[in-house]
Amino acid sequence: MGNWKNFILDLDGVLYLLNQPIPGGREFVDFLRTHRYGVAFLSNNTFLTREEYVEKLGKMGIKAFPEEILTSAFAVAKYLGETRPGARVYVIGEDGLKKELKNCGLRPVLRGKADFVVVGMDRKFNFRKMSQALRYIQDGAEFIGTNPDPTYPTDNGLLPGAGAIIAGIETCSGKKARVFGKPSPLILDLLLEARGFRKEETVIVGDRLDTDIALGACCGVFSVLVLTGVTSRQDVEISQVKPDLVVENLFELRRVLAGE
Ligand SMILES: [Mg+2]
Repeated sequence: MGNWKNFILDLDGVLYLLNQPIPGGREFVDFLRTHRYGVAFLSNNTFLTREEYVEKLGKMGIKAFPEEILTSAFAVAKYLGETRPGARVYVIGEDGLKKELKNCGLRPVLRGKADFVVVGMDRKFNFRKMSQALRYIQDGAEFIGTNPDPTYPTDNGLLPGAGAIIAGIETCSGKKARVFGKPSPLILDLLLEARGFRKEETVIVGDRLDTDIALGACCGVFSVLVLTGVTSRQDVEISQVKPDLVVENLFELRRVLAGE
């Protein structure tokens, strides 16, 4: 533990469930700041912009800064903005994704030519959008996905996630999307570089084995699974993907760090 200098925290299932703060989250982030750990927040979710996440966390008493937050929407926008400034993008997604793309200088298009088709979670996804994406991809647009999550948790159970929409377009186009969100190393590399974190000094904390923990495992970053989200101890036992440490909640992780 002596080497740990930075913490990458997942949001949903770690600091809150939808809009409900998870006990221990605020205290844990305070502890990290007091002891001068590097902090970053990493979410596959694309509904909100980084500024809106700062606001959401702030309402829960958790202090965060936009530059500490990386979503899969911002990762895609930053990458495209830097490698293909001003590119035309056909977007299937919601406001958070569209705003981040615009903020990074990309030009969303509805007709005409597109250089990229960017696909994320879209609760108004339909056959017309799917057909349009297919047309653009056939015409040579590069196919980018925000995140591979098959589902998205809500108060009323699961909804289909971005991964399901991406898979539909992969099926009709016969092309694989380049997907940025966890567990893709693309998003971790962007984060480490942006925050100046070194892998061997960094810990990733999350509630999902297939995204957070898989990312840590594939990139050689120490991973901590918290049981406050979608994963139970039984899930861990039968999973191929194993976290380096399992804790009940962030109170427990804070005690581990404090050496109590
Ligand atoms: Mg989560």
